[in-house]
Amino acid sequence: MKHVVLFSGGIGSWAAAKRVWARNPDELILLFTDTKTEDEDLYRFITEAADNVDGELVTIADGRDVWEVFFDNRMIGNTRADICSRVLKRDLARTWIEDNCDPDDTIIYMGIDWTEAHRYERARPRWEPWRLEAPLTESPLLSKTELFQWATDNDLRPPRLYDMGFPHNNCGGFCVKQGHAAFKNLLEQMPDRYAYHEQKEQEFREYVGKDVAILRDRQGGDTKPFTLVQLRERLEQSGEQLVLDDWGGCGCMVD
Ligand code: SF4
Repeated sequence: MKHVVLFSGGIGSWAAAKRVWARNPDELILLFTDTKTEDEDLYRFITEAADNVDGELVTIADGRDVWEVFFDNRMIGNTRADICSRVLKRDLARTWIEDNCDPDDTIIYMGIDWTEAHRYERARPRWEPWRLEAPLTESPLLSKTELFQWATDNDLRPPRLYDMGFPHNNCGGFCVKQGHAAFKNLLEQMPDRYAYHEQKEQEFREYVGKDVAILRDRQGGDTKPFTLVQLRERLEQSGEQLVLDDWGGCGCMVD
């Protein structure tokens, strides 16, 4: 039986793989889809994580980064239409699995946990005819803190983005599905990376000639595009007083 873990580089995908490893699999494959937008420390983590579970790390990539996909399709991904994760992750992973895995002899795993069990239920029919499992939705149920401790107990240093306050290790702390608070964190933790995405968003707006943006602003009752430039300027004007709590979600493989 072949066991294929959809390996994002997040702590959950390692923990899911660790649970599969504990079942003594004949063949354990960690399938990593590289968006070419990743944090540099992700590559350190996935290599060490694969060693930790005796898994074969298989890396596949379209070759473009998320902005190249947005320009090529003349649209920025968003929570309703995440073209980046469809093109750079889901379609690629699906094609690789169709080419390399027999549904009668393969189980696919994802790293979502019990707090996101609804997403697992949504994803399961989409992966048919392969069987999809989410080991972290099974007992014993572990918190994120316990997952980090488990990794540390295995001499595995979690990806650095978590220590920097990011809730995920996708696309280097950037995500078109994340909210204002997550972009604020990106600005504070990695201003150069924020500036890069701010610049790409401006270039994209000029390219399509439209008032489009990753974020939305709902102040004043209307909902309108809200650029990363506008968010930065609002944060600079408000200083420490602006409290943001909309972190948003990022579920590349399930949505
Ligand atoms: S993490 Fe966000 S920006 Fe990156 S591919 Fe997934 S949905 Fe797109």
